[in-house]
Amino acid sequence: MEKSVSSSRKQPSPGLAAVAGEAVRHLEWLRDAGVGEIPVPGRPAGRPAPAPGPPAPRSPAGVAGAAAAPGASPGAGSAPAPPRYALADKGCGSPELLAVRERLGECTRCKLAGGRKKLVFGVGNPRAELMFVGEGPGGDEDLQGEPFVGKAGQLLTKMIEAMGFARSEVYIANVVKCRPPENRDPEADEIEACEPFLAAQIAALRPRVIVALGRFAVQTLLRDGTPIGRQRGRWREYQGVRCMPTFHPAYLLRSPAEKGKAWDDLKQVMKEFGKEPRKG
Ligand code: SF4
Repeated sequence: MEKSVSSSRKQPSPGLAAVAGEAVRHLEWLRDAGVGEIPVPGRPAGRPAPAPGPPAPRSPAGVAGAAAAPGASPGAGSAPAPPRYALADKGCGSPELLAVRERLGECTRCKLAGGRKKLVFGVGNPRAELMFVGEGPGGDEDLQGEPFVGKAGQLLTKMIEAMGFARSEVYIANVVKCRPPENRDPEADEIEACEPFLAAQIAALRPRVIVALGRFAVQTLLRDGTPIGRQRGRWREYQGVRCMPTFHPAYLLRSPAEKGKAWDDLKQVMKEFGKEPRKG
């Protein structure tokens, strides 16, 4: 066994290439953001130390009990239904999140159900202290059943990595879980139908910080119709959780000159986690 390991070290390491690729994406994002700073974690690698923690967000009435541990009796005397979802499913991973997923089910609560290929529940670390909330799935997300996997998603991943996190360390979800046709904006009744499940995800996750990406996430979470350009960069609060509004990555792709502002917003989030940028 040891000989085999020793021998393999003579070969180029695929892991090294992956690390180099990640570093390049990191530096690309910093360059695009117009900054010459290198963020460094203020703590050893791994999850940030547990915070004293915000008070638990309240579960909305629409999904009361959705964040409770599963296993609640479906009814005295009735045989338990076979599980339709598993902890290994995207965006599940804890009993609390799995309970929300079970309650959402193969949802038809709004008209977006008819056009979706896959319901996009969420993805990431079920114990993440940092959560990103976007608007809704696009075409790539609809196909893969995972939020932020298209071009905007690739930019979001760069942003996350530039902050000193791995994508797998955070949790990502959207306001609506099904793709609006032709990527139109989600409508009020669709947001109203789906938002309770986002609230339940947040209640199940209990993150330390939420980054709200773009107009719909900000306006939905904060109940504030002020344009995103005037809301971004200022700490707010959602159900006791600190919330930082910033631009949506799709907007940043269309308006790259705004990346510097988004980076300023993300630096405030980094500071919350002890990840101070350092002059390079
Ligand atoms: S968008 Fe939300 S409420 Fe509408 S069908 Fe999909 S999961 Fe259900």
